[in-house]
Amino acid sequence: MDDVEFLKAHPSRTCGDCQLCCKVMAVRSISKPEGKWCTHCSVGPNGGCSLYPSHPQDCKDFVCSWLAGLLPVTLKPSACKVVVSSATLTIGDDKIDCLNVYVDADRPDAYKTGLMGDYLRYFGRRLPAVPIVIICGQHRSIIANDPILRLRLLSVTSWKVEER
Ligand code: SF4
Ligand code: SF4
Repeated sequence: MDDVEFLKAHPSRTCGDCQLCCKVMAVRSISKPEGKWCTHCSVGPNGGCSLYPSHPQDCKDFVCSWLAGLLPVTLKPSACKVVVSSATLTIGDDKIDCLNVYVDADRPDAYKTGLMGDYLRYFGRRLPAVPIVIICGQHRSIIANDPILRLRLLSVTSWKVEER
């Protein structure tokens, strides 16, 4: 069991009234697109998922990096308007670890500013070989800090982000 799996199995935080992943992420099994509130989501302090506890397994399994305890408390998604998660990026025939950064389309610059902006710049310096995939609605882009990774990305016609 690695650190992330351990933190997922023993969470020290709760989602509370945060529901941002139900907006920014796609859920293919129920044809929910990214960037729009799920039709099963009632937003607000007393809101929740109308399908609970029979909501899709993909939703049950999802644990964002904040919930796993990997980000500072102040970077709760509902506050910073960004959901971060570890994921896999497919480039050609290769699969590599990446950081998925889902940004609320109502705050498209949220990943560049404040503590989240500082965190992602720090992450890029510390782990340059790990691409940061910015996902905002249908729009996707990659921050590749490593020059070899940048060349690799330029050499392929497409890349694919892991979805839930
Ligand atoms: S974004 Fe993270 S903290 Fe917010 S509801 Fe989803 S899993 Fe929970
Ligand atoms: S089905 Fe429920 S948990 Fe899944 S995205 Fe919709 S509201 Fe969220």
